Amino acid sequence: MILMPYSVDMLANFHTHSTFCDGKNTPEEVVLAAVDQGMDSLGFSGHAYTEFDLRYCMKDTSAYVSEIKRLKEKYKGEIQIYLGVEEDAYCPAYRELFDYIIGSSHYFCVDGSYYPIDSSYDHFKKCLDLFNSDAVAMAHAYYRPFCRYINERRPDIIGHFDLITKYDELDRPMFLENKEYNKVAEHYVSEASRSGSLFELNTGAIARELRSSPYPAENLLYVLKKEGSGLILSSDSHRSDTLCFGFGEARKYLKDIGFTFVYTLYNGEFVKDCL
Ligand SMILES: [Zn+2]
Ligand SMILES: [Zn+2]
Repeated sequence: MILMPYSVDMLANFHTHSTFCDGKNTPEEVVLAAVDQGMDSLGFSGHAYTEFDLRYCMKDTSAYVSEIKRLKEKYKGEIQIYLGVEEDAYCPAYRELFDYIIGSSHYFCVDGSYYPIDSSYDHFKKCLDLFNSDAVAMAHAYYRPFCRYINERRPDIIGHFDLITKYDELDRPMFLENKEYNKVAEHYVSEASRSGSLFELNTGAIARELRSSPYPAENLLYVLKKEGSGLILSSDSHRSDTLCFGFGEARKYLKDIGFTFVYTLYNGEFVKDCL
């Protein structure tokens, strides 16, 4: 990844799902909405194939690659389109096919079985049972392999770093107000920052009305600021009407924490975009 020194002012999102995985709209519908919303760049990030769970991932990666390439060409006078992928830490994608990789962790792996964290609250409750609702044990089981993957694989962008906190505002809060959990999460985010990968400021769960704040949590953002890590705004959009959801507020939020810029993809390079 090359980080260029200059800044631009762009409306862009690089974490976008479509009907090729679990999104609601076709890629072309998404492109038309992005043009309509005045976006400068749009990156698609279909869920990479996960052999152990076929419910949410892309089953036909080559059709996805061809379609995004077709749209890239068709709309090149109107919007910059990028071909990305969101791979799961437990099932890396074939990197050469893509302009960039988002590396995310969506599962607990216990005794060789994979337990989805974010697909529904019912699934998450199974994860709670698995760990007897021990937040610290869950944090270690989630972050340790995720950080190992991040530092080995160095994805361009780290997806929703603290996804295990997704349902914290829905039922019983276990993580965000828990001092012990926060200590563990801060240790791991600092470890992940050594990768040099960009971290998402992900507004997806706010759009889905599950949370009032983005990933990662504010205390982790302070750690990332101290470590000098770069951020990129992401909507994790599964619909064409939430492509830049909450980005105005997110910019202000980051500024208040002390960030002066985020990164964006521009002419094929990650560049600074002043807040
Ligand atoms: Zn994800
Ligand atoms: Zn996603």
